[in-house]
Amino acid sequence: MKNARPLFLCLLAAGVFVPAVGRAQESAHNQAKAPAQAVRLAAEPRAGRKAKNVILFLADAGGVPVLHGASLLGYGEPRRLGIQQWPYLGLSETSPVDDFVSDSANGMSSIVTGVKTRNGVISQNPDAQRGRQDGTPTKTVLEYAEQRGLLTGIVTTQSIADATPAANYAHSNDRKKWGEIFPQAFKPRFGDGVDVLFGAGRRKIGEQLAAVGTGFDQLGQTHARPIHATLAEVADAEKRPVVVGDAMDARTATLKALDILEKSPKGYFLVVEWDAHTDDPKEGLQNVVDFDKLIAEVQARVDLDDTLLLFTADHSFGLQVDGGRRGQDLLAGYDAWKAAKSKEDIVRLGNVLVNRTHTGEEVATLAIGAGAERVRGYFPNTYLFEVMMKAWGWMPDDAPSN
Ligand SMILES: [Zn+2]
Repeated sequence: MKNARPLFLCLLAAGVFVPAVGRAQESAHNQAKAPAQAVRLAAEPRAGRKAKNVILFLADAGGVPVLHGASLLGYGEPRRLGIQQWPYLGLSETSPVDDFVSDSANGMSSIVTGVKTRNGVISQNPDAQRGRQDGTPTKTVLEYAEQRGLLTGIVTTQSIADATPAANYAHSNDRKKWGEIFPQAFKPRFGDGVDVLFGAGRRKIGEQLAAVGTGFDQLGQTHARPIHATLAEVADAEKRPVVVGDAMDARTATLKALDILEKSPKGYFLVVEWDAHTDDPKEGLQNVVDFDKLIAEVQARVDLDDTLLLFTADHSFGLQVDGGRRGQDLLAGYDAWKAAKSKEDIVRLGNVLVNRTHTGEEVATLAIGAGAERVRGYFPNTYLFEVMMKAWGWMPDDAPSN
């Protein structure tokens, strides 16, 4: 524990001051080794532009230390991820209304509705009691986008009914009620509901649908939208495809989703979630490296003059790099730990310490493109709702009308 605090402050300081100081020097340095998109500090001319499209990249449990560890694992050096070259950075505070530490349900609900709630609750006001009583539904960015005729999409490596994706299209007093949550994608409160839905969790969602007397086939027939088991089953002509697989290849899914969403004359809203829990540090950090590569592909494809790219996490996680040297294996000792199949909450590798739980400190939000300049300083995660709405130039329904 002794080292944790100085290390954390150090990371914060490094992150916070990068966009502001030593610009020319940073730029020259990064061009040598950074990923292809290079430093985009020249993005300031986009300040004040309205966005037509918004893409929210959500690394589940991908806080500041996880981004740092991923850069070390992937590139052997700090600050080498593509997103770490983005010009705008803020620190997003993720707590629910009552606890210090957030789960994915409150974390994502807060980001996409602008209202903090309770852990376990999916996009309802904190008047909800988890598992016992509904709260007032809180309107999501995806619902605003649907209401205004944009195309919308959700892609996740996780179950499409799990808390993070669900917070965009459903409202429930308990994240565990998948039989109640998943069908809400087909009974939208606004527009015609989420247009592209690609995620995992097929077996468990199927079981919970059966428990409430329905199923994939029945839902698909009732709403005239087949619920495919693989991306390969989606026909080219399908404009509003739904895939619930056993697993989901987020890269293929995201690029396929963009093929559809990009055709929208009014723009689109896309959420891409990639799991970044580092309970298994190698898997978690590699996920972030892979996610970052996908984000770079998307960044190269979209027009940043009319598209806002946001990257953030729903909550942080207890991973620390507390040792090691350049040129050495960051995850020395991993194979032995893996072979021992330890169930301990504390993972003590040579250079990495993992306390396998969510943690309460702020997570990084990085931004580039139209409206990105609003991301700066410390803010509550609910501010990201405002960042997305303002990027489009939209006011929330409950805004004072003076
Ligand atoms: Zn989470």
